[in-house]
Amino acid sequence: MLAPLRCPTCRHVFESTYTVAMPFCSERCRQIDLGQWLDEEHALPLDIEKHLEEQATQPPENDDPDDEVSW
Ligand SMILES: [Zn+2]
Repeated sequence: MLAPLRCPTCRHVFESTYTVAMPFCSERCRQIDLGQWLDEEHALPLDIEKHLEEQATQPPENDDPDDEVSW
């Protein structure tokens, strides 16, 4: 049974099998968190939200372009 985890960066609750970037929900959130520590003075909350927005709207990776040619 999987215990849901909460990402320290975006507070998103996710399952541990969903990510390889533990304890974050994604590699991007891990990078954001690293950026906060390494560049705290320049990392603005608004910038983080923008990053998360990009992550949310990012289309899934399509590694099989042949599927698109269905007609
Ligand atoms: Zn996250």
